[in-house]
Amino acid sequence: MGPKTVWKLLRRLALACLLLLAAPAASAASGPCHAAASLAESDAAVAASPQRWTCGNANWSLAAERTYLRFSVAPGQPPPTTFATRLTRFEAMRLTVAAADGRSVSREVRVSDMQPASEGLIMRIPLPRLDASLSEVVVRIDGARHVSMLSQAHLLERHAADAAPGRRQLVIAALCGLLCAPFLFNFAFYFVLRQRFLVWHSLAVSLMLLQTLITSGLINRFVAFSVSQLALTQTAAFGAAVAAAALFTADLIEPEKLDRLHRRLLAAMVPWIAAFTAFYLLADGPLRGIAPTIYYASYIPVLALFAWVMAVALRRGSRAVRFQIAAWIPLMAVGSVRIASVLGAAAAPLDLDFEQQLAFVLEVLISGLGVVDRFMVLRRQRDQALFEARVLEQAVERDPLTGLINRRGIEQRFADCRSRGFRTMAVLDLDHFKTVNDTHGHGVGDDVLRAVAHALAPDDDTIVVRLGGEEFLLLLRGRDAAARAERRREAISTRVAADVPGLERIVTASMGLVEQTAGLAAGGFAAQFAHCDRLLYEAKRAGRNRTMRERVQTFTERRRRHRRARAAHAA
Ligand code: GH3
Ligand code: MG
Ligand code: MG
Repeated sequence: MGPKTVWKLLRRLALACLLLLAAPAASAASGPCHAAASLAESDAAVAASPQRWTCGNANWSLAAERTYLRFSVAPGQPPPTTFATRLTRFEAMRLTVAAADGRSVSREVRVSDMQPASEGLIMRIPLPRLDASLSEVVVRIDGARHVSMLSQAHLLERHAADAAPGRRQLVIAALCGLLCAPFLFNFAFYFVLRQRFLVWHSLAVSLMLLQTLITSGLINRFVAFSVSQLALTQTAAFGAAVAAAALFTADLIEPEKLDRLHRRLLAAMVPWIAAFTAFYLLADGPLRGIAPTIYYASYIPVLALFAWVMAVALRRGSRAVRFQIAAWIPLMAVGSVRIASVLGAAAAPLDLDFEQQLAFVLEVLISGLGVVDRFMVLRRQRDQALFEARVLEQAVERDPLTGLINRRGIEQRFADCRSRGFRTMAVLDLDHFKTVNDTHGHGVGDDVLRAVAHALAPDDDTIVVRLGGEEFLLLLRGRDAAARAERRREAISTRVAADVPGLERIVTASMGLVEQTAGLAAGGFAAQFAHCDRLLYEAKRAGRNRTMRERVQTFTERRRRHRRARAAHAA
């Protein structure tokens, strides 16, 4: 959908506007003559007063209870076989065909008798048969729910039940296929970012798709729905699509670019549209005639709100709203023309079905691009936030002097480490470290601590923690864990000597080590740490610069041994 297509659509709309102005003059010559009447009047009384009849596209109204449409059939003309008009509901209809010799035949028709056409929002019914040359067809309609049912009434020569699709319908069918793409995108995006606007967009797309399938008649090629079902669904789907689009707009536009008031007003469109749609669909009696006017007029505030919200967001530099504006211009233009025509700017309402279908498709596709764009921006923001959170978290969980994980860090990850196989724990404490500080100063003491961290050398199978002061902790996994811990303890002296020259005495460390055998490990961090600390204390008491170690058998391991022993005994 490049700018060229948008331009084409706009030209089409301009043309439609021109047509709107020229409509009464252009179609005055063709079409039926019509007259309004009440149910109490007799057909003969209406037929007998020529001043009540309007011939041409003017004076259409839903206000009367009953409308007569009189088509005259010229003598040499091929006889009409079918009555067709815009698909809508009505209360009753009678078709009468009259021959030049005065004979006539009538047929009462109910909404359920009408057949939806497979192209356009049209319903049809065969005319009653009369074996004579026809001179006139009179259609008497009671309680029509849309003026277009009167103004668009026409006769067809053939009752083409299921003609091959026309060019317009093929275009719409292809575009409907295209409308499925945003669904897949939204679905995939939702897994990455659980954003509500993706749900609203999918909902709006499906409703616009449904509406387009009905107004283009495409749906009737696949499923058999009644005229009432189609009429009701079409109107409900339109309202719901606009409501979903309002919620979508409220959620899509960047939080700081709209005020709460704007979002609330957009959300208020849902009950607003629902109320007027329900009124339009259900209004009966004297209200039926004015219901369409009220219904169409109820969309003026909706259009105005959209325009206002978009203008505000645009002025505040919203990026997302640019896509919304491009997406909505065609639909708003079509909507404005339709509303204006119903409110009296044209002799008969302009339905602009094809234009509206195109506008829907454009709306979905352009707002789909807006969704992709917003998704990218949000993902970038999320990644940045995650990165910053990670940096912060690391700052809290790390010891600034040595860069090692601190006690808080390991306590939080202990369960995870254990599940990844880190079952050997060792606690180290430097021997007589206080004298290093006392002799060489705190600065040198710090250098020693850094050298110790270096010597303890964390790797994939060894987690090194500075618990605080001159106390360190090792968590190890894999083979020879205890031996690897011991080698690290021993490496402290040489590493410190190399990194911090001039020390008065060799720096050594004492260590308490606990190995837990495979199986369900018992106890949390505190329990295992207390065990190590006890052993460390023993090492200190035994003269320092040494390791005290113990193996702990876990419950499952003991049970397995026990079972094995019993099995051996039984054998
Ligand atoms: P022992 O062999 O019994 O463990 O004796 P010790 O001197 O190592 O133990 P003690 O707990 O008496 O002293 C620990 C010293 O560690 C006291 C304190 O000055 C020093 N210390 C604690 N944290 C730091 C630090 O961040 N930097 C430096 N330079 N010294 C520290
Ligand atoms: Mg200590
Ligand atoms: Mg110490």
